[in-house]
Amino acid sequence: MSDRTHVFAGIALERNAEQRDDADWAAVQFDDPKARFLLLGADSAGGRRALIQSSADALHWLGQDGRRVFAADLALTYLGADEIGPLFSLCADAALAEQVAAALEGTFIDLRSAGVRLHPFQAGVFAYAHAVAHWQARTRFCGACGAALQLLALGHRARCTNPACALEHFPRVDPAMIVIVSWQGQCLLGTQSNWSQGRYSTLAGFIEPGESLEDAVRREVFEEAGVRVGACQYHSSQPWPFPSSLMLGFTAQATDPAIHIGRELSDARWFSVDEIVSGLAERTLVLPPRLSVSHELIAHWLRQRAGLELADLLSDKPWQKSRL
Ligand SMILES: [Zn+2]
Repeated sequence: MSDRTHVFAGIALERNAEQRDDADWAAVQFDDPKARFLLLGADSAGGRRALIQSSADALHWLGQDGRRVFAADLALTYLGADEIGPLFSLCADAALAEQVAAALEGTFIDLRSAGVRLHPFQAGVFAYAHAVAHWQARTRFCGACGAALQLLALGHRARCTNPACALEHFPRVDPAMIVIVSWQGQCLLGTQSNWSQGRYSTLAGFIEPGESLEDAVRREVFEEAGVRVGACQYHSSQPWPFPSSLMLGFTAQATDPAIHIGRELSDARWFSVDEIVSGLAERTLVLPPRLSVSHELIAHWLRQRAGLELADLLSDKPWQKSRL
């Protein structure tokens, strides 16, 4: 329905999934003089941040020299290739991360900040690397027999080291749906008690086993707001590595506008176009950040409904970044 590209989505990398198990091919990639290496540094909160340049909102890629000097012992995860050459990520502990940052006059950025500050390609590569690194860190033992796992396929698969088991484990992606529901010229937005005053967003939730996406849309909207949904249509998707979701955006139509607030929300309301426009102008309404599918769903709804561009209604404007 939409060909809009969200933050973290649309990175045009050749992932070469079929070659990742080929040791000869991998050796060529490792030694490619144009290879670039994204350093992820552990932070004190257990997260992973990307090395960027101190002087610019741009990744600080390591080249082969930088990798040899600072990171020769770190395991490499192959991300893919762009028009320049192969891209890898590597994870440093906090001490090494600080050492590299000091030596290269770099600094570290978290994923949410990267989604706002970096060029979309760079933010997307970071999000991809972050998601794989998170899976690797949280998938160290076999869920079937408890033996240690060994990473294969340049970081994209793990195998149980117990020969009697040898179960293979793959990076997981958790689908979650997010939906803008409309009813006679209004859209349904909700807020939570721990959100800042006036912040409203579209409704969202994880898909449960045995559900289709459409089933989950109807269940979540009913659970959270008591609203019955009829037709729903897929809109667009976004990798959402906090830590491993895939957000699947939908538009939907209510069959009955009655609202009954569930446990997750502190309020849910129908908003007209005028209420959104005046709420933003008077700063009594805060919509989700540009980073999110929710923002794009609301922008889509305003465009369809009233020919308005959400970006024109907001005071802060996005800025342009270099891709490489
Ligand atoms: Zn096992």
